[in-house]
Amino acid sequence: MSTNASLTARRAAAIPDALSKHLDVYIERAENAELWDVEGRRYVDFAAGIAVANTGHRHPKVQAAVKAALDKIVHTSFQITGYEDYVALCEKLNAITPGDFAKKSFLVTTGAEANENAVKIARAATGRSAFVAFSGAFHGRTLMTMSLTGKTVPYKAGFGPLVNDVFHLPFPIPFHGVSEQDSLDALTRLFASEVDPSRVAGIFIEPVQGEGGFYPAPASFLVKLRQICDKHGILLIADEIQTGFARTGRLFAMEHAGVAADIVTMAKGLGGGFPIAAVTARASVMEKIPAAGLGGTYAGNPLSCAAALAVLEVIEEESLADRAIQVGHRLRTAFESWAEPSIGEVRGLGAMVAIEFVKADGAPWPELVRTLTRTAAKNGLVLLSCGVYGNVVRILAPLTIPMPVLDEGIAILKKSLVQSLAELEVAA
Ligand code: PMP
Repeated sequence: MSTNASLTARRAAAIPDALSKHLDVYIERAENAELWDVEGRRYVDFAAGIAVANTGHRHPKVQAAVKAALDKIVHTSFQITGYEDYVALCEKLNAITPGDFAKKSFLVTTGAEANENAVKIARAATGRSAFVAFSGAFHGRTLMTMSLTGKTVPYKAGFGPLVNDVFHLPFPIPFHGVSEQDSLDALTRLFASEVDPSRVAGIFIEPVQGEGGFYPAPASFLVKLRQICDKHGILLIADEIQTGFARTGRLFAMEHAGVAADIVTMAKGLGGGFPIAAVTARASVMEKIPAAGLGGTYAGNPLSCAAALAVLEVIEEESLADRAIQVGHRLRTAFESWAEPSIGEVRGLGAMVAIEFVKADGAPWPELVRTLTRTAAKNGLVLLSCGVYGNVVRILAPLTIPMPVLDEGIAILKKSLVQSLAELEVAA
């Protein structure tokens, strides 16, 4: 029988160490917000496969839709011969993404691929080459999206030269001493000193920075970015790959600010675990792209389209946006009640809740978060970290998590924090 240790050894021999690895745990079965490993150990899942299983692992409705699709078509390549689910999904995305204007959508497979395509679209539509993104941003690991990403280690270090004509601005993070006005001033300076706004095709923003540390962009900041984009003919590109599909208490996080982007990129939660991503843009923008300029052999695979249509129904039928607010409220209330000096800040939007850990002098405390995620796994909780300094714990539980399982996860997190602090004290 395989064990976690035996699979870890086989992995080490067969797979490069460079492939990102969070835990030495190998899962055999998953259901809603629970996982069971190859040794039969159970885990509460606060990761949801990195914000993918918003509708829970193996939601019966999604499973049934995919099983039905499997008996009809597995692959034809939509660009060769089409199928209805692809069309229906794009119609649905045009209708539900923010913005009261005509839109068009197309499907790809990963978040990075969606962002790569957003770059192509923005360049073709504006005839401009430059992009602005934010420090701390994560937009993917391909060459262009790695260049847009605002974190060097482990995403960019060793992989240069990066794509030029990408400029980074500080993200407004009051906890790190960067106000909204500081970010806006930095943009003004950037336009004056580095790149004329008439050369900028698009501004990429995650409405809540995900990998960067779960920092929500203030609504007023998004409104101002929209105005700046309109003034200079720049396209606003919302990367809703992590924030999308009810995670923040709205279908899309931009809705909290009442701001519509010109291009929206989506992935993760859309397919409920089946790989699918999407790009939706103003029809007037999409129409400027050269014929046959977009595509991909597997893009919008029939099984993933069927899954995504079912996911969107589940989100509506089970009011998962409202549920995200309830889950988030429960998490925040618990975390804020822990009188623990290492907790620098509890923050988030909807169910996207994070705790930032700091040392007594206020410096980031990544060692604590590393110990905590490891200890939590031993105690039966899969927990993710994030943050440019690696000192943030982020909660990405399925939105369908039963409240008793959520409470169990919170209790394990608390116990693991106490144990981790004790372990680090002994080591010091
Ligand atoms: N953008 C954001 C905001 C993300 O969180 C991620 C994945 N963590 C990506 C893009 C890249 O998605 P993928 O891993 O599917 O390429």
